[in-house]
Amino acid sequence: HRPVHVIGGGLAGSEAAWQLAQAGVPVVLHEMRPHRTTEAHLTDGLAELVCSNSFRSDDAQTNAVGVLHAEMRQAGSLILTCADANQVPAGGALAVDRLGFSQAVGAALEAHPLIDIHRAEIAGLPPEDWESVIVATGPLTSPALAEAVRGVTGEAALAFFDAIAPIVHFESIDLGKAWFQSRYDKQGPGGTGADYINCPLDEAQYNAFVDALIAGEKAPMRDFEAKTPYFDGCLPIEVMAERGRETLRFGPMKPVGLTNPHTPGVKPYAVVQLRQDNTLGTLYNMVGFQTKLRHGEQARIFRSIPGLEGAEFARLGGLHRNTYLNSPRLLDASLRLKALPRLRFAGQITGCEGYVESAAVGLMAGRFAAAERRGLAPDLPPVTTAHGALLAHITGGHLDAPEGEGPRAFQPMNVNFGLFPPLTEAPKSADGKRLRGSEKTLAKKRAQAARALADFALWLDTA
Ligand code: FAD
Repeated sequence: HRPVHVIGGGLAGSEAAWQLAQAGVPVVLHEMRPHRTTEAHLTDGLAELVCSNSFRSDDAQTNAVGVLHAEMRQAGSLILTCADANQVPAGGALAVDRLGFSQAVGAALEAHPLIDIHRAEIAGLPPEDWESVIVATGPLTSPALAEAVRGVTGEAALAFFDAIAPIVHFESIDLGKAWFQSRYDKQGPGGTGADYINCPLDEAQYNAFVDALIAGEKAPMRDFEAKTPYFDGCLPIEVMAERGRETLRFGPMKPVGLTNPHTPGVKPYAVVQLRQDNTLGTLYNMVGFQTKLRHGEQARIFRSIPGLEGAEFARLGGLHRNTYLNSPRLLDASLRLKALPRLRFAGQITGCEGYVESAAVGLMAGRFAAAERRGLAPDLPPVTTAHGALLAHITGGHLDAPEGEGPRAFQPMNVNFGLFPPLTEAPKSADGKRLRGSEKTLAKKRAQAARALADFALWLDTA
């Protein structure tokens, strides 16, 4: 049997390789690190998480990314199995020990008899005798490959900016000022209700902090970068500060659901939260504090936060350009490049956003390629499922878009209920009454989530 070649051992490529091998198809997985690295990766591990260590909400009843987790677990996802096995407490979120997680993914792939891992860059179009290829090279695809893809598609790739948040050594945080608590003492699986460290700011400190962010020296941008937009879910903190004095207080620094035990009766005006970054609890990341401030400026400004005066940084924040395809125009319904169908794409390069979404698209690409190997037409997950909704967003497919006419301005997106088709019947209360307001919204989410999980199970049974 000739193998399917997967290029890129990140979130998507690792999952795609696993799904193929589990379906009995031999795989060669090509990863360029450590011989060549990207601007954001720090290790040579497979499925390295380049910024936050969170896979976001694990609530499969009312949260779309939680539904995606649940569907992936149903499909035997390697990424979810390894995430579950390497959890660190994070309220209702699924957060992982980044190193333990990456090592678990690598070990499982290395141990699989049908997977061969080659450590080399694919620096152009894959050789012609590779009949089936999955390109999962991510937002930081190496320039040589990106150039070659551009050559085939004849289209300038789209791009946006993503930023990285700093990580602090736990022992350098002053717990005489900061304290452990989850917002509203929310309890996650295995959590204690005290999964975050909180640093309080009063009004004067907050205002001085906002001023410092705005005045702080930013990493310079090159000309061509100046027109590149930010991904809205991941705005640098200084860009948020520039949007208005209150933006941070209503965003990552919101003081709600928290009580400072050091100052009973005095509510903090704003709060900086840190989330555990590894199992040992020796590292904490600053939640929502992605930034493109120069490194020296970050250390200076972040040490003005009460509790972080002596902070030692394990990593400082950074900013990176993200490249993705105009997928609705360039890819077919099962993620193959229309101009060169032996190439299938997966992960963030297809225009999804986030670790979980990238892995989910890898899961689909792996299954589609495996079906093709067996001489079957790929069976697409129904659009009522989180996978199907994501796929439809990317390919502009099975939602009635006229042939070849993708959405005009294709933007990367996290999975959300807005991508799911509406319910055919409005949800009612237990006693049959019509629901209103937030009750109605919640009931709709519950119904969409339940429908997704049921339809996904059915799809797995028949696919
Ligand atoms: P990756 O995980 O990047 O994997 C691609 C792999 O391909 C890499 O291992 C790379 O070395 C390899 N590769 C590239 N070119 C070649 C080649 N030519 N030959 C061989 N191998 C190659 N998502 C979140 O959910 N949370 C965050 O906090 C977050 N922060 C981010 C911060 C930054 C700066 C960036 C750039 C992205 C961030 N993202 C975040 C998005 C995140 O990158 C993706 O969600 C996820 O890593 C993408 O998965 P992927 O498999 O598509 O790509």
